[in-house]
Amino acid sequence: MLYDKNMVKIAVIGGGAAGMACAVRLAGAGREVVLAERGERLGRKLAATGNGQGNVTNLAMDASHYFSDDLEKVARILARCGAQDVIRFLEGMGGLFLPDARGRVYPAGRQASAVTDLFRRELALRGVHVLTGTYVQNLSRGSTFTLSFADGELKADAVVLAAGGKAARQFGTDGSAYALAQAFGHTLAPLSPVLVQLRCDPAAVRGLKGIRVDAGLRLMRGGREVCALRGDVLFTESGVSGDAVFRASSRAQKGDEILLDFLPDTSAEALESAVRGGADGLLCIVNNGLGRHILRLAEGNRARELALLKAFPLQVTGTLGFDYAQATRGGIPLAQVNDALMSNYCKNLYFAGEILNVDGECGGYNLHWAFASALAVAEALQ
Ligand SMILES: Cc1cc2nc3c(=O)[nH]c(=O)nc-3n(C[C@H](O)[C@H](O)[C@H](O)COP(=O)(O)OP(=O)(O)OC[C@H]3O[C@@H](n4cnc5c(N)ncnc54)[C@H](O)[C@@H]3O)c2cc1C
Repeated sequence: MLYDKNMVKIAVIGGGAAGMACAVRLAGAGREVVLAERGERLGRKLAATGNGQGNVTNLAMDASHYFSDDLEKVARILARCGAQDVIRFLEGMGGLFLPDARGRVYPAGRQASAVTDLFRRELALRGVHVLTGTYVQNLSRGSTFTLSFADGELKADAVVLAAGGKAARQFGTDGSAYALAQAFGHTLAPLSPVLVQLRCDPAAVRGLKGIRVDAGLRLMRGGREVCALRGDVLFTESGVSGDAVFRASSRAQKGDEILLDFLPDTSAEALESAVRGGADGLLCIVNNGLGRHILRLAEGNRARELALLKAFPLQVTGTLGFDYAQATRGGIPLAQVNDALMSNYCKNLYFAGEILNVDGECGGYNLHWAFASALAVAEALQ
């Protein structure tokens, strides 16, 4: 090893978006940093984001796009680090980041793996000591912190816990890192998967697997609308996926109802004159497979056919779970950290990224939080 294990100043645990951003900024300010990542490569999840295109932030950035126990603290951090700050930070390492028509910001080359490469290059340039294949099993504190791995340990004056949440375990995030914080007295806001496929009664979607529609989606609870949005809906074996469903999943609960409008730009009246009777009455109105499904359900009742086209009901029975989720709801409550994201229970223990009880909507908000929280921590530690 090129560094003195007994003289490391700052240890960052977790080489994901937040850990890498924090390490880059700290090293850029001249701090001695070790970055410990359990995987063999840094930033594997970051490289898979945005369908491989890397949606790193969103121009419409404020706390209304987030869920947390303390949205005011989130708002204060976002006020210090908005979308342009994240873009500046990323472009400071190289590259070009551009918004699409919906304000979602991507690398111009539309390759998420290139964002990870940008970080890897910068970490090397800045002289960050990167330890891959290093699973931090235990974290304790005496006069300094001690990080324990399978084959040794490391001392640090300050620790940044940026080890992610429980979503998408294939990227090293199985939720085991919460225990490192719990050892210092932290508790967890209840964990659940978000930005995830929703499960529905399989009979309601039988035969529809693979059909993708641009639909209006209303999420209903007890007859009241929770949210209404528009986007891609993809039928799967066990329910629905797609951009609109992912966005709705942030607010969905078991027992909710989804109403899909398959023709959101067509009025019920216009639809009524377009729909013909008979077995092929929905040709060129909706996907043929979907049309047959609707005709089967309507059993020859024309009013019911029209109702199903504009408000196709699905009961939410659950989600596909953490392994298929993009983010985690819950985690270390913001009430247990200060505005610099330092633990209320242990001086110089900081948190950044998804490990905290903050999750954002689909559209670049989770990576933005990873970067903004990491830069807030780095600012405090510089
Ligand atoms: C498929 C997919 C697509 C997504 N697309 C988007 C998108 O386009 N835009 C967006 O904003 N968000 C997206 N997200 C969410 C976003 O990627 C995460 O919210 C973000 O990466 C969280 O960053 P993080 O650094 O906190 O955690 P992570 O990126 O999860 O990194 C945590 C790291 O810590 C390591 N680790 C864990 N425990 C230990 C330990 N004990 N010792 C050492 N290392 C440890 C893990 O191996 C991991 O590398 C997506 C998520 C997924 C799964």
